[in-house]
Amino acid sequence: MAKWAHQKCGHLGEKATYKWAQECGIVMSLDMIKIIIAQCPLCQHTHKRLVQNIVKGELGRGKLPGQIWQIDYIGPLPQD
Ligand SMILES: [Zn+2]
Repeated sequence: MAKWAHQKCGHLGEKATYKWAQECGIVMSLDMIKIIIAQCPLCQHTHKRLVQNIVKGELGRGKLPGQIWQIDYIGPLPQD
């Protein structure tokens, strides 16, 4: 459940995932989220790049080709 929430919120950090979950009415401890993120291969791979600056509503524009990369992650989707 915590793992799903973490993926669903877009692989946010510990506190952001915690806040997101709370807003969705999901109860989980910060310790649990830390463990989930520590075990998340995607976060281990992209953590440093994702956390820097989260752009909302607009795409960053680099001055040089390849300066800013946009990466979209899809799934795995939760199964009802
Ligand atoms: Zn993750």
